[in-house]
Amino acid sequence: MMGGKRFGTMCVHAGTLRDEVEKGLNSPVYTSTSYEFIGRPDTVYPRYLNTPNTRAVSEKIASLEGTESALVFSSGMAAISTVLFTFLGKGDHVVFQKGLYGGTTHFLDRELERFGIGYTVASSQEASDMETCLRDNTRLVFIESPSNPLLNITDIEAVATMARGSGILSVIDNTFASPANQQPAGLGIDIVVHSATKYMGGHSDITAGAVASSDELMNRIRETGLNLGGSLNAITLYLLERSLKTLHLRVERINNNAMELALFLETHPEIIRVNYPGLPSHPGHELAARQMQGFGGMLSFEVRGGDGIAFQEKLKLIKPSMSLGGLESICCSPAHTSHRHLGPEGRNAEGISEGLIRLSVGIEDVEDLKADLQQALGN
Ligand code: PLP
Repeated sequence: MMGGKRFGTMCVHAGTLRDEVEKGLNSPVYTSTSYEFIGRPDTVYPRYLNTPNTRAVSEKIASLEGTESALVFSSGMAAISTVLFTFLGKGDHVVFQKGLYGGTTHFLDRELERFGIGYTVASSQEASDMETCLRDNTRLVFIESPSNPLLNITDIEAVATMARGSGILSVIDNTFASPANQQPAGLGIDIVVHSATKYMGGHSDITAGAVASSDELMNRIRETGLNLGGSLNAITLYLLERSLKTLHLRVERINNNAMELALFLETHPEIIRVNYPGLPSHPGHELAARQMQGFGGMLSFEVRGGDGIAFQEKLKLIKPSMSLGGLESICCSPAHTSHRHLGPEGRNAEGISEGLIRLSVGIEDVEDLKADLQQALGN
């Protein structure tokens, strides 16, 4: 942790390893998978999540999330599955909010019950709904805000308070916001998870994950993590460290671009609805303004006529493409990608129409993005 420094300074400096040999400014990259052990208290080994570059990036992420500790993993799902398997066992129960990332939903559908772990998906993002799902054996509540793809906002502090009052752990997937826009530990959340493949990595070229929490909980997560084996290699760790140095700049630009595009789309006659927490018309706007420092780079909108594919085929600059959080603006239609498996009825229940487009806004010049959307909308 780098006490007392502001966010941008921590992005640049926190955790950097000192190069004692050449006095270079960047962390040296330790590619070894074998380390001398005599005279050391701990064995250093990549899968034990304790190599110098793992420690450097983990320390930076802990500083950015405002937690005592953090760990980096090989993917967001490695981070999420490690957290769930650390704190859940046979006979336990876990509550999930409605509207989670598809991979997390898939994981709980496919993996939890066969290990004897029960779960309930709440009917909304409300803390009170999640509370009604609690049972005597509930150990943990898992939320995501803003949510995918409708950008609903969960009252993070309310969920943290409910969890603490009920003696269970609270976990948030903070991928969409990134620590530049939202620091849930400060709102009382116990464990923060990330797909660092997204804003933290930020250049659409690495896969990584992260968990941030207290020393006590992170020690337990590390113990399970080294058994599950989802560590990240030194070269990718170095790329992640390099990316995090510009997180504040990238996210600031992305926030501004997203706000401007949301305002543009909201008044466009070919758009039925825009979901962006920065818009005063968004039902979660006031809550988002309270718990976020910026509204993020993710938005979704519904095109008139309901043909999301035809709209995306007309785009010239914005690429119809999966994932999010990179430098380039990309979009997808959840009905044909992440939520395809739900079928028409399931999508209807989730409020996901054929014409819904999810946009991950990049750092391009916003006028070019606007022009591309404008021409694809047909005027
Ligand atoms: N959480 C969210 C919100 C995501 O969008 C993703 C990936 O798209 C993940 C977790 C999983 O991360 P990864 O693909 O790095 O395993």
